[in-house]
Amino acid sequence: MMGHPIVTDSPPIPECTACGACCFSRLATYIRVSGDDYQRLGERAEDLVWFDANRAYMRMSDGHCAALVVHKDTGEFLCSVYETRPQTCRDLARGSGACLGEIDTKGERPLIALGRSR
Ligand code: SF4
Ligand code: SF4
Repeated sequence: MMGHPIVTDSPPIPECTACGACCFSRLATYIRVSGDDYQRLGERAEDLVWFDANRAYMRMSDGHCAALVVHKDTGEFLCSVYETRPQTCRDLARGSGACLGEIDTKGERPLIALGRSR
């Protein structure tokens, strides 16, 4: 009897601006902000960072990082502090296992934010 190979179908990895999944979370402590991160954020830091005792985190809003701009007209997700984003965000490489995990677990949320569904 012929065996059936188990193949997990991986869809192509989207451009980050068409995805946004890793910028979504319901956790207030999702993105940790280090002292270096805070400095790099410059004048945006005060608006975008909140403190829990001596720990700092990116502020969350509507289920995603407050720095994320959701363009409903174009369907784009743009980080408004891309050049100065925290190290955690810099470390998440598009196409990595972590990225695929983000898409797998949270891929629907950006679409819901756009008012679209699959
Ligand atoms: S989950 Fe991956 S493809 Fe989507 S925005 Fe983040 S890094 Fe880019
Ligand atoms: S700082 Fe930018 S890249 Fe990082 S979670 Fe927020 S919107 Fe996404």
